[in-house]
Amino acid sequence: MLSPGLLDDIRAIVGADAVITRPNELRVYECDGWTLEKSAPEVVVLPASTGEVSRVLRRLHRDGIAFVPRGAGTGLSGGCLPVAAPVTIGTSRMRRILAVDIANRRAVVEAGVVNLAVSNAVTSNGLLYAPDPSSQMACTIGGNVAENSGGPHTLKYGVTTNHVLGVELVLANGDVVQLGGAVEDVPGYDLTGLVVGSEGTFGIVTSATLRLVRQPEACKTLLAIFESVDDATATVSGIIGAGIVPAALEMMDRLIVEAVEAAFRFGFPTDAGAVLIVELDGLEAGLDEHVERVAAICRVQHAREVRVARDEAERAALWKSRKRAFGAVGRLAPSYCTQDGVVPRTKVPEILRRISAIGQRYRLRIGNVFHAGDGNIHPILLFDERNEDEVARVLDAGREILEACVELGGSITGEHGIGVEKIAQMPLLFSPADLSVMQQLRRVFDPDGRCNPGKVFPTPGVCVETTRPRRQAAI
Ligand SMILES: Cc1cc2nc3c(=O)[nH]c(=O)nc-3n(C[C@H](O)[C@H](O)[C@H](O)COP(=O)(O)OP(=O)(O)OC[C@H]3O[C@@H](n4cnc5c(N)ncnc54)[C@H](O)[C@@H]3O)c2cc1C
Repeated sequence: MLSPGLLDDIRAIVGADAVITRPNELRVYECDGWTLEKSAPEVVVLPASTGEVSRVLRRLHRDGIAFVPRGAGTGLSGGCLPVAAPVTIGTSRMRRILAVDIANRRAVVEAGVVNLAVSNAVTSNGLLYAPDPSSQMACTIGGNVAENSGGPHTLKYGVTTNHVLGVELVLANGDVVQLGGAVEDVPGYDLTGLVVGSEGTFGIVTSATLRLVRQPEACKTLLAIFESVDDATATVSGIIGAGIVPAALEMMDRLIVEAVEAAFRFGFPTDAGAVLIVELDGLEAGLDEHVERVAAICRVQHAREVRVARDEAERAALWKSRKRAFGAVGRLAPSYCTQDGVVPRTKVPEILRRISAIGQRYRLRIGNVFHAGDGNIHPILLFDERNEDEVARVLDAGREILEACVELGGSITGEHGIGVEKIAQMPLLFSPADLSVMQQLRRVFDPDGRCNPGKVFPTPGVCVETTRPRRQAAI
């Protein structure tokens, strides 16, 4: 239990209205998109500047109190679940775009800035911020940095780490450090690279210097419709094998198409086995030729129809449907669990067959909507959280899917991170020596283990493997 004196000190730093302690308001912060584990913090603090973050962390340091950084809470692996940490520090009041340097294509933004707001701020200058998670209307740059987030356009443009030049980080003792910077190659260790993907365990990122890229001169988006998942996945290999690098290459199977069509009425054929969304961009000259080549590959793999978006409005509607697919899934079941694994692109057909078999064995409906070009699968396991037996099957099936990814030469996460969800699977990929090096590194940034404890690595005495939905105490 936090002392009243500590809460008073924090209120004096950030203002009373930026400190949340009412139980009903705290429930908003008891989980992220990984809803199988819940744990409300004792207090949520919403600082408005780096200075306030620093002073709050310094005060917590004095009493040895652990805390959890939180952006928009769209994470899918329980990264901002309060585990052994009574204080959640949210960045929702840190939403300023601090500087935009059009000539050098850079922007400095506070951690709470929503991903899409960065592109919106520079679109009139012909620029954009490339990493575009499907949650980009809500998720924050701080969360993107912590998770090294990707998105549909990751295939061509790279993930967050390829677009972050520097970060301002407040360490658990309140010290503020500037890592990286505005130029490409800062001497010394690549500490920015370390912080990107550290899942909030190194400190609180308060701002980031982002690389901006030019909007492509031209862009064409195709929808290819297939009778079977196998034909769609063979097409993915065919396109990449032909030396074409689309800006995005996404797949949705029948279950997802049905949900998306019911929600958005785009005109998807609900009897199709799978659809591919292929986006090609670049110079106007030669783009139509690429479109033709892709369409031809689709037809060779038995596409029953290939449509090219006629205009920007149709393209936007198509992307809206894809990016809101997870939301549409709410129509299919009361609860769902989005898994996130990676396999080598050539193994996509096999992992999808295995997912289907796992679904049958565990008597679960599983839909697939994913970044096919990257081999980054997102099976969505449908269930009802009130049915304990079904939840247990979801958790077991999820683990088997991840094990299958590793067996096929892939990984247990493509972009959603380890959080609390996948801690038990870390040894599938890493030896004890590997894990020990990572934990030593973590201690360099946070020697007392007070910054987002119970995440990524097992902490002794904390966070056991989840076998059913559970509500735990934050401390
Ligand atoms: C519908 C939907 C679609 C999604 N699509 C994608 C996708 O296409 N690609 C993808 O990669 N992910 C996707 N995600 C997952 C999620 O949106 C991303 O992981 C996102 O980056 C999380 O951002 P957030 O602001 O919500 O972070 P949160 O969920 O609040 O936090 C995520 C992690 O970051 C840490 N953190 C947050 N802010 C900071 C900070 N300032 N400093 C240090 N640590 C911090 C937290 O402690 C936690 O560990 C999707 C999620 C949903 C719900």
